[in-house]
Amino acid sequence: MPIDRNYREKWVVAGTHAGHNVWMASPKTSTEIHGTLVGISLDACNGCMRCVRVCPVDVFGEWKSSNGTLVADPVRENDCILCLVCETVCPTDAIDILQGEGSDETLNSLLQGSH
Ligand code: SF4
Ligand code: SF4
Repeated sequence: MPIDRNYREKWVVAGTHAGHNVWMASPKTSTEIHGTLVGISLDACNGCMRCVRVCPVDVFGEWKSSNGTLVADPVRENDCILCLVCETVCPTDAIDILQGEGSDETLNSLLQGSH
């Protein structure tokens, strides 16, 4: 299933991992989405690592999730330059990049999981 592009409004921050938020649906209906500026659905990611290879600023790392699956993880999401190449190359629509005109205050509250 593709990433839920409205997760930042509909899901809740359930914790953090490697410096980014971990989002879960509430009630829990799916696995996690990692990241806020750069979101990756662990459900959707097939571990192909295309995003790791194409990102010009090395946002992604490889990570073995709790169920043992190798996935991409947005460990340096704050470095993202919004080029959208990763979204374009992802074969499973697992990535959502936060764009738009939100205020710094809104962005900060999202990043801190306190919206
Ligand atoms: S390109 Fe998509 S499916 Fe492949 S590792 Fe990245 S997020 Fe996962
Ligand atoms: S949008 Fe561009 S800079 Fe940001 S994570 Fe994707 S490939 Fe990297």
